[in-house]
Amino acid sequence: MVVLLSNDDGIHAPGLKALAESLQELGELFIVAPDRERSATGHGITVHRPLRLETVTLPGVNARAWAVDGTPADCVKLAVEDLLPRPPELVVAGINQGPNLGTDVLYSGTVSAAIEGIINGFPSLAISLTSYGSYDFTTAAEVARKVVTLVMKNGLPPGTLLNINVPPAKPRGMRITRLGNRRYINIFHKRTDPRGRIYYWMAGEPLDLEENGEDTDVQAIKQNFISITPIQLDLTDHHALQILRQQWGEIPFNI
Ligand code: MN
Repeated sequence: MVVLLSNDDGIHAPGLKALAESLQELGELFIVAPDRERSATGHGITVHRPLRLETVTLPGVNARAWAVDGTPADCVKLAVEDLLPRPPELVVAGINQGPNLGTDVLYSGTVSAAIEGIINGFPSLAISLTSYGSYDFTTAAEVARKVVTLVMKNGLPPGTLLNINVPPAKPRGMRITRLGNRRYINIFHKRTDPRGRIYYWMAGEPLDLEENGEDTDVQAIKQNFISITPIQLDLTDHHALQILRQQWGEIPFNI
């Protein structure tokens, strides 16, 4: 089984190494990842300059690996189109340092790598450790191996990826969740540079929103459960589609 690994924390990130170590006995691993941290680059791709890459040896990891000076989506595209000897059976992105919960998935390079996987028709997973402070990826790596084994056995519906978040403390169990909502306060720090010019630095803390019910990824992590959210690419609002077709479908547009 060919497994493609990528991430957005960069080829030398400890979470990627932990992921590779935990999966290397399950298949033939190929790693194609950004040459530096590209967190929060979303699904951006690089089309206005060339992409450069180099082969990399990761200590203790039995995998062919490339570092690319592009985004996670670039990495998966390049892997699938040119670098892999044959199409992967699975694409796994992570293990990200930090959560990818709720609305975060739209900004996340980790999730975007997995989205690029399903765009190309391959079962895909994104996995994140929900702590910026913990470098212990042991549990998250075990979760990755367990979920990969389940996906190998049961498959995934076409066009669906699994977004997995693992709490840093010992998990109380696992929940299949829906995406919650995440909004941040104090997003911008406004400061003055040494030359007297104003600059802004985006940061902020996520708000604790009551609308995040028990069945959301946000609540699962808050209660120390592993969260697994199936995500699909179809952003169509099917409810609104029906309404618009009924209400607007009859309006003539003779422009
Ligand atoms: Mn990241």
